[in-house]
Amino acid sequence: MQCQGPDCTTEIEQAPGGHRQRAYCSDRCRMAASRQRAYRVEQARLKAEVEAKEQRERQELRNRYPMLAEESIDLLYNLKKQYQYGGLHLVSVIGAALVRENERPGERALLAADLFVQGQKKSYPAVTDNKTGRTLIWGNLADWFAFCNKSDVPTLRQALALLQGNPNVTGPARSGATHVTIG
Ligand SMILES: [Zn+2]
Repeated sequence: MQCQGPDCTTEIEQAPGGHRQRAYCSDRCRMAASRQRAYRVEQARLKAEVEAKEQRERQELRNRYPMLAEESIDLLYNLKKQYQYGGLHLVSVIGAALVRENERPGERALLAADLFVQGQKKSYPAVTDNKTGRTLIWGNLADWFAFCNKSDVPTLRQALALLQGNPNVTGPARSGATHVTIG
């Protein structure tokens, strides 16, 4: 019989008589096998823990958005995981948009997500259309959040264009808000 130690190929001579069969050639192999078993048990435990956490978080999303299809729950879960900072806000923005769009991840939801991520990258600046002088978004997270939640597709497109393309986009920030010039 071959030694049962990890990576050991030593053939074990069994003592004659009614002795219990030896599984290991040495104490070293016996302990190595024991460590390997403990490691595997620990890995299995960690894997189960991660899976349980994922199930819990998905269930929380299902409870919060009971009207959403499983693929939308997948989208929300992955967004939450992907964006460590601002992920929860993003989930709220997209979640609300998905609910409004009758369970379909449509154009509005994706635009809102895109705009919110762009805003996040630029620390939520104020966005003003200099042609009209109209401020679409004031420079703070709460306004970004509200804007992405409530705006329709044309308004979201306008904000995205201003944020990405126009070097003159800037706006007066409300008192206490961070003022950021884009360009
Ligand atoms: Zn051995």
